[in-house]
This record gives sequence, structure tokens and C-alpha cells, in this order.
Amino acid sequence: MTGPFTRRRFLAAAGAAAATAAFPRILRAQQARNIQRVVVFRFGGGVRLSETFAHPLAFVKDSSPIPNLTELASKGVLYTNLRNEGRLDHLGATAQILTGQFYDAWKPMGVRPPAPTIFEYYRLASGAPASRCLLLDPSRSAIPLDYSSDAQHGAQHGGVVVPSRLFGRAQMQFVMDGLKNPKDALYRDAKALADILDAEGFEGLEDPKAPPASSNKDVDEYLKDAFNREKVPRKVEKDVKIASGDALTLFLGKMALGSRHVNPAILVLNFHGPDVAHRGSVAEYRRAVTELDALVGEFWKVIEKSPAAKATAVLITPDVGRDLEAGGGGGFSGHRSGDLGCRRLFALVLAPHVKPGTRVDRVVSQTDLCPTMGSWLQVETPLAKGKPLAEVA
Ligand SMILES: [Zn+2]
Repeated sequence: MTGPFTRRRFLAAAGAAAATAAFPRILRAQQARNIQRVVVFRFGGGVRLSETFAHPLAFVKDSSPIPNLTELASKGVLYTNLRNEGRLDHLGATAQILTGQFYDAWKPMGVRPPAPTIFEYYRLASGAPASRCLLLDPSRSAIPLDYSSDAQHGAQHGGVVVPSRLFGRAQMQFVMDGLKNPKDALYRDAKALADILDAEGFEGLEDPKAPPASSNKDVDEYLKDAFNREKVPRKVEKDVKIASGDALTLFLGKMALGSRHVNPAILVLNFHGPDVAHRGSVAEYRRAVTELDALVGEFWKVIEKSPAAKATAVLITPDVGRDLEAGGGGGFSGHRSGDLGCRRLFALVLAPHVKPGTRVDRVVSQTDLCPTMGSWLQVETPLAKGKPLAEVA
């Protein structure tokens, strides 16, 4: 640009610069209002920061134990100091993620959380059907996290837990792989049940001895589709080994995104693989973390290609960490000592409105996650203790 510098030209240039600077913020704010789907990867059963983002090789190309997570961190906002100040069991910690309240003062495991889940807040505000709020969990314990005991919320606004017995075939394989001896009585029982499930033409839709596990018609239809032999890649069946629960959770998650029966607004995938650490093998634990990293990377590609990609927010966060090697915690195999190894976690957020490659080191709380999800879905979470995370809300 040539010509004399005038006050008018100065103001025009300054205005243009200010508008350019403000534009991404305005754009991000608009996109924030357009989140239609929230996907939560509960990373673990118990994963420490020291085997993920605080690993010395985490960000070293070709050497990272978590190459997918570090790649995703460059596209999202990484919180490196998220604290679980409440319960350190998987159920309690997952409840803290979903309700934004500590589970600590509450009653024994198995009792519903008193504070509403994000499922209930969302369904009460939107009138959406239960099948839009799915929690996929292959663990053996039933998790009553579909709804709380709060009088204003509760069952009529709850989500749907796709529970353990829907994973029957995979579990039988798990038992057989673990025992290895076909003469073992338990092995024979598992084999017999696996044969029944195979003969039924499903990969383990449900234990035939048990009543239907899901009481939701749409969710049942989605599961039937998912387990339809024609549609299950054979690879999945062959891969059913130690990591089978997580592989199947991932598979069911993919099927949920493409299902004509369910259209999840909130999809929670509870992974468990790394909790193999309880057995005491650090190598198995590390391998499980790397496997989970690969599964998350695979699922991200599916999300990126989905029609709802531009309206999807993803939250990746462990429930708990694991104890430190020193300090009386018993080392990596447990996660209840209360030391920083089990309390200091991460959260990684990917969404169209966030600034890629942002790292946030200040201390934030696990109870902030539910209100943050609420902000994405534009629902209030008044009974949550935490506050929406400013960088991503
Ligand atoms: Zn555990």
C-alpha cells in the first residue's frame, strides 16, 4: 500500500487487524454452540500420567508409547494437572466424571450417585430419548451410573448402560485364553457357552440363560445390528484375547455412531485394559496403555469422517491414575493409596471450537468435567461441584 499515512487509513488498518484477531474467537464461540455430540473415552481402568503424557518419550517421534494421544494433543487442549480428589475406585471415579460431584461421602459401591449424571441433565433439558445417552462398559460389575437417586432426575431421565453380559462371547474367550487347559472344568463351561452363542448366530448378544440385558428397544436393535454376523469383521473375533473387552467396546462405539436405531448425543466408552496392572506385570500394563492409545486413534479417525464431525466434542480422561512406586502406595499395581500417582490425571479435549495444541498446566478438578460437558450441550449442571473449564467451555 502506498500513499500518505493518514489518520483515516490508520483507523481502517487498525479496525481490520482487530476484526481479524477477533474473528477466530467469534467463530469458535459460534461453533461451541453447535456441539450435538459428546464422546467420552474413559482411558483406563487407571492410567498414570507417568506412562502417558509425562512419559519422557511421550512427544518423541517414533519412540512414543502414546503416539496417537500425542498426535491428538496437537489438535486439542491438553490438561496436565487434572485432580481426582475423591474416590479412587473405578466406579466412584467414573461417577465423579459423569456427575461433577465427589462420590467420597456417599454410600458403598453399588449405590446410585445422589447427584444427577450428565445423561439426566441432558435428557431433562432436551426431552431426548434414553437411547441418545449410552455408556458402553464390558466390565463384569454392573455399573449403576445410568442415573442418580436425585428426586428431580432419576430413572425417567437416565441413560442406557450396555452392560457386561452383552459381551458374553468375548468373555468366554477371555476365560478360555486365561485357563489355556481344555480339560479344566471352567474352560469346558466357557467353551460350551461360547458354542451356544456361536450357534445362535450372534457374537455374544446376550447370555441365553439371562433375561435381555437392555430394557431399551432402540438400544437392543442397535446391538442386534452390531452383533449381526454379517457385519462383524472376522478380525474382531480373532482379536478377542486379553484386550477383547476394549476392542469390543470400541467396535460397539463405532456401530453406535453409524446406527439407524440410536443417535448418541452422549457416548461414554469405559475402557479397562490397563487395569491388568493389578496382576503385577508392568510390561502388561504398558502394553495395555499402548493398545488403548491405538484404539483411541482408530476411533478418532471414525469420528473425523462422520457426518457429525464438526458438531462433536471428544473428552479423553482416565478415571484414576496408579500408585507411585515409592511412598507406601504399593507401586503401579494398585490405585488407592491417595498419592499423586493416582490423583494427578490428564484430560484431552478435541472440539471444533478449541484452540489446537493448547496445553494447560494449572490444577483443575475431575468435577469440572461434567459442567464442561454441560456447557457443550448447553445444559445447566446445577448440582455439580465443579465449573466448566474456561479454555474449552
Ligand atoms: Zn483397578
